[in-house]
Amino acid sequence: MVDFSLSDTERDIRDWVRNFVQRELTPLEPEVLRRERAGERGLGKDELAELRNKARQAGFWGVQTPEEYGGMDLSAVMTALIEVELGRTFVPFSFGGYADNILYHANEEQKQRYLLPTIEGQRKSCFAITEPGAGSDAKNIRTTARKEGSEWVIDGEKTFITGGIDADFAMVFAVTDKDKGADGGVTCFLADRDMGWKSEPIDIMGEWDRMPASLVFDGVRVPEENVLGEVGQGFALAMQWIGRGRYLLPARALGGCEHLLEMAVQYSKERETFGEPIADRQAIQWMIADSAVEIEALRWLVLQAAWQVDSGMDSRHAQSMAKLHGGVRANEIVDRVMQIHGGMGYTRELPIERWYRDLRLLRIFEGTDEIQRRTIARNLIKGHASVGGVLG
Ligand SMILES: Cc1cc2nc3c(=O)[nH]c(=O)nc-3n(C[C@H](O)[C@H](O)[C@H](O)COP(=O)(O)OP(=O)(O)OC[C@H]3O[C@@H](n4cnc5c(N)ncnc54)[C@H](O)[C@@H]3O)c2cc1C
Repeated sequence: MVDFSLSDTERDIRDWVRNFVQRELTPLEPEVLRRERAGERGLGKDELAELRNKARQAGFWGVQTPEEYGGMDLSAVMTALIEVELGRTFVPFSFGGYADNILYHANEEQKQRYLLPTIEGQRKSCFAITEPGAGSDAKNIRTTARKEGSEWVIDGEKTFITGGIDADFAMVFAVTDKDKGADGGVTCFLADRDMGWKSEPIDIMGEWDRMPASLVFDGVRVPEENVLGEVGQGFALAMQWIGRGRYLLPARALGGCEHLLEMAVQYSKERETFGEPIADRQAIQWMIADSAVEIEALRWLVLQAAWQVDSGMDSRHAQSMAKLHGGVRANEIVDRVMQIHGGMGYTRELPIERWYRDLRLLRIFEGTDEIQRRTIARNLIKGHASVGGVLG
């Protein structure tokens, strides 16, 4: 039997997050907007820490972190539901107690220095694979690492690295065997900032609480004990990092779309033209209806992808579909919501233009629309997935 209902526990957790967002985050929206308009960060470090602590005191910490590290180890479906709730506000927030999935490949000694402090929020990481000449085709990276005695010497440049400005260490990917390339010749290094890499901020269109940066490695010396995983096996780690939750990005966008559509419905009832509310016009109703259908389709794509993750299935096809649909549709929806608000939608009095700028990124990072389409089409053409999906 197909059952689309939530369990009592899922509903309780979802409702707890919904309340947290309404009580703690939504009231901050005007101030976050004001600060961002003034070129400042939406939430200060201390404010973010305080919010995370509040949640932690209520037992909400480490959403997907294994219990042995003090986390909640929640399912993918539950995590997606949480992301939807967090997405309903533009206040940039995520719960604390999180570390990059690939840091769990660290050995015991590395875990003490990197994994545990990252989970505790004492150290910040960044994931550095993209280069000026290698984005979608990440296999084409040119950064090199050569062995000198007991050290590796890294040379190269990374770009668009989220959090690269304030990260304490980078998980940086470099070619250690040119002949093998991505197939056994790329290694991941844990490179502390004080080992000598430099970062420069990159100004972008959207608001971004962890500003991206270019990172320069100019003869940076990393001790051999800082290899994460096996020498030569870094590319698989990079793919694992990227694949950690493609469904989570559209899940957050889904929350934003729900909120935006609610704004549009409300505004359409209040705004009158030619003596009637615009809600009575078919042109407006169609925009509302199309958005509602697309939101619902996105919900099921996201939850189905998450369910596949929880079921231990190969979820890559479903995740690509959710990411693609989320990126394309969220951008159409925010555009319609702006249209329904007329001139007001285009002002900075309302946050719609902010959502508009932010949601645009979803079509670009962690696999562009085109790369998702490429993945989906190739899976079908090669027979790795069927048009009928999991129900056959
Ligand atoms: C805000 C932001 C944060 C980011 N954070 C990180 C991070 O933390 N770490 C990190 O390593 N990277 C990060 N990235 C990099 C991001 O993942 C890349 O920008 C993305 O993968 C696209 O690569 P590119 O910019 O080089 O575009 P390109 O690969 O040069 O693509 C240019 C265009 O060509 C299209 N295209 C490329 N190949 C094909 C093809 N085979 N068929 C059809 N069309 C194709 C693309 O879809 C795109 O439209 C971030 C980027 C941004 C903007």
